Amino acid sequence: MPELPEVETIARQLRGMVVGRTVSGFHADWHKLTEPDPASLIAQRLGGRRIEAVRRRGKLVVFELDAGEALVVSLRMTGKLLFREPGAPDGDRFVRGTIAFADGSALAFSDIRKFGRMSLVTSADISPDRGAARGAGRDLYRSLGMEPLSRGFTLAWFRAFLARRARGAIKPLLLDGRGIAGIGNIYAIEALWRARIHPLRTAGSLTSDEAARLHEALRWVLRKGIRFGGSSLTDYVDAKGQRGRMQREFEAYGRAGEPCSRCGAEIRRTVVGGRGTFHCARCQRVPRGR
Ligand SMILES: [Zn+2]
Repeated sequence: MPELPEVETIARQLRGMVVGRTVSGFHADWHKLTEPDPASLIAQRLGGRRIEAVRRRGKLVVFELDAGEALVVSLRMTGKLLFREPGAPDGDRFVRGTIAFADGSALAFSDIRKFGRMSLVTSADISPDRGAARGAGRDLYRSLGMEPLSRGFTLAWFRAFLARRARGAIKPLLLDGRGIAGIGNIYAIEALWRARIHPLRTAGSLTSDEAARLHEALRWVLRKGIRFGGSSLTDYVDAKGQRGRMQREFEAYGRAGEPCSRCGAEIRRTVVGGRGTFHCARCQRVPRGR
């Protein structure tokens, strides 16, 4: 499932491909793609609009249009946005929707598992510096907490956030996009390994030092993920159809039974909050009472 680095990679690539193009049509091949709105309404509102910018918010790809609206795309499990030059073939049989541009090029949304969604929203509702409150109830942009790579994600903010959620286990807390946006299972596991914090520690039990380490680790792993073009464990590809390279860099994720590169102890797999989790048995100590 694409997380922040994968979606950021796609948004950066699409920027160079679609900014400045004018939408001439929109067609959906899957009736739930634009729910609750019918695809015909999206087509009507998209027609003639110019794409001014492409950015990421949480795990959403955001196409900023002229006139203050934005098309947001949630890739979910297997969604891919693939740009097509004029005259190029239609793409794979999993295409669920296509945005056609006036110059004959197109952007296809391919999605094997059909969990991906598209929606038109007011740009201001998904700006990087606003919380999740407005628009609640619409699945697409309900989970938009603090952007961990934004200037607002300071150590002071992070400490206050941990204090507010003191009783929760740290890993599920990191995965809850309403607090911090864009972090999924993989990058949470890697950040906790780097910070030497067990996934079951409660947020309130972290020392001042540990909170600082985790704050640094989150930004470090996310930036590294972007630098390596995201991670392709199963079917993630970027907007050019290329696989990412971050999966070769994992220190804990998927390494059960292997020695920790830092201390040599064994990496273990457990389940925390229903998600498969990996940690080092020595440098991420199990909290007392567990
Ligand atoms: Zn270790």
